[in-house]
Amino acid sequence: MAEQKIPYKIYLNESEMPTKWYNVRADMKNKPAPLLNPGTHEPMTAEELSAVFCSDLVAQELDNDTAYIEIPEEIRNFYKMYRPSPLVRAYCLEEKLQTPAKIYYKFEGNNTSGSHKLNSSIAQAYYAKKQGLKGVTTETGAGQWGTALSMACSYLGLDCKVYMVKCSYEQKPFRREVMRTYGASVIPSPSMTTQVGQKILAEHPDTTGSLGCAISEAVEVAVTTPGYRYVLGSVLNQVLLHQSVIGLEAKAAMDKYGIKPDIIIGCAGGGSNLGGLISPFMGEKLRGEADYRIIAVEPASCPSFTRGTYAYDFCDTGMICPLAKMYTLGCDFIPSANHAGGLRYHGMSPVLSQLYDDGLMEATSVVQTDVFEAAEYFARCEGILPAPESSHAIRVAIDEAIKCKETGEEKTILFGLTGTGYFDMYAYEKFHDGVMDDYIPSDEELAKYRASLPKMD
Ligand SMILES: *Cc1c(COP(=O)(O)O)cnc(C)c1O
Repeated sequence: MAEQKIPYKIYLNESEMPTKWYNVRADMKNKPAPLLNPGTHEPMTAEELSAVFCSDLVAQELDNDTAYIEIPEEIRNFYKMYRPSPLVRAYCLEEKLQTPAKIYYKFEGNNTSGSHKLNSSIAQAYYAKKQGLKGVTTETGAGQWGTALSMACSYLGLDCKVYMVKCSYEQKPFRREVMRTYGASVIPSPSMTTQVGQKILAEHPDTTGSLGCAISEAVEVAVTTPGYRYVLGSVLNQVLLHQSVIGLEAKAAMDKYGIKPDIIIGCAGGGSNLGGLISPFMGEKLRGEADYRIIAVEPASCPSFTRGTYAYDFCDTGMICPLAKMYTLGCDFIPSANHAGGLRYHGMSPVLSQLYDDGLMEATSVVQTDVFEAAEYFARCEGILPAPESSHAIRVAIDEAIKCKETGEEKTILFGLTGTGYFDMYAYEKFHDGVMDDYIPSDEELAKYRASLPKMD
């Protein structure tokens, strides 16, 4: 049979789109460790979690057994407005690299929020609405999550309060205005609107904020305001579940043409896009049906997997959130201010942490000038202006394709292109002007943060 020519873009029909999310935990022999109450160190009960999160989302968070969970029709209809996302064969990149490797990427940047985060924000907003809530609170760093949540809330008529890390609030005014266009209130964090914020401002009046601090503020407002809950854009099990739509679509598109990836690559901040992309492939691997090489790529300036510790840690700076067992650098860790592109969270998804600890996936780290070099190379041949976060995956995909050129192996590579970089031109400017640096934390620095991990016994 003549080899079928693979199109540049493989799309699914609406009728081929997933109707269920896939919960990889159901196929894991070693389940991710449970969230613990920070006071008692006992596993968080559904009731305790319900003070912070919507009840249907609590059920999803705690469900380690149900493999397939129905995507409610209203969410499926919302998905249809911007999905299926294309699976692209990177013919131009292959040509430019002169590699025998076949490179595919799943592009999640084709929506106004510019990233995959809309896949989970619509789900979380839907369950909040279903519960009869008035609104939700959250934090945002680089701004993609806040934007995605604002879009979902405006669609469903929910109020949305976003605590935005102060330095981003000031440096990325356009992100802020996109959120306000969708009706969200955007508050620079730390702020005087919360007790946590007032305390931090009293101690550090000049602080430009951090993600951990913004989380503490958003959680405080959610638990003290009737009719509100807190939502989070990454790390949690429920977020990986929603993001499985990425992998399910990618696998369905590849199956249509009988393509099997040898290597699957994704950037890893809190782990949601990578967890979503790999989930159906990892399911096959866990069930012994197929094997794949899976690589998480993180910044050398915030190396949770490659230099972190697998331990229980706080999710926020205020230490009011549950403890999660994850690869972590310590909740006080703040990446260098010179680190430009997202992926700044100190911890990693408990699901991915367990899979990594069990040797089912690999991790590697890259420095930011190498990341921007790959971003620019990719933009110049594939056309898309990639987000700095996504460009971590591009870097390693290019490196693997170059290895194939050296060995002559025709490997099939799939990577996640999570978003576009239009709001990151300040970082691109630093790269073009040659003033971007490659800060790597020293062992001593990391040891200091490791020492602050909570003592568990
Ligand atoms: C948030 C974000 C990431 C990192 O988050 P994960 O939860 O690790 O996926 C990566 N790329 C883009 C474009 C993002 O917005």
